[in-house]
Amino acid sequence: MEPNVFIALGSNRGDRELNLLRAVAEIGKLPGTRITALSGFYDTEPVGPVPQENFLNAVLRAETSLTPHQLLAALQRIETDVFRRRREIPWGPRTMDLDILLYGDLILDGDDLVIPHPRLHERRFVLVPLAEIAPDVIHPCLGRRVEELLRDLPEGERVTRV
Ligand code: ADP
Ligand code: MG
Repeated sequence: MEPNVFIALGSNRGDRELNLLRAVAEIGKLPGTRITALSGFYDTEPVGPVPQENFLNAVLRAETSLTPHQLLAALQRIETDVFRRRREIPWGPRTMDLDILLYGDLILDGDDLVIPHPRLHERRFVLVPLAEIAPDVIHPCLGRRVEELLRDLPEGERVTRV
């Protein structure tokens, strides 16, 4: 069986909602890939040192026959070719950010790709949409359910379902 992968989507430039819808459509067109769940869209306060507009965030689940590196390359191609994203200010505004959160039970610690995503468990803007579609999925490194990770997260930046 193909692994369930979870992908985080985020945009804070241009028409954020249209950008997310476009990204979902592009991911659905990837070879060997089928989207099986999509969270609601969440308006979220930016995290980090750069003052910027709020993001719109979502998480989707897909089945894919792409390898982790093939999937990363495909997501980066969507970021650059469809959304004209350039490597800009680190942590700064972006039309589209696509991150691989989980790839089945895989644990991978490469130079260019780390799975599970290393900041997944400390980001409310990721855990809230992820918990909506995958509350019982277990983080393969931490051995805890997504819902528990969210429950134990200290209050932080605001995440509002739109
Ligand atoms: P960020 O998402 O951290 O704000 P970028 O989107 O610019 O920043 O990604 C920086 C680098 O993170 C990418 O070049 C990619 O190689 C690397 N990376 C490592 N692990 C992952 C992952 N799980 N998903 C997406 N990118 C990843
Ligand atoms: Mg990214």
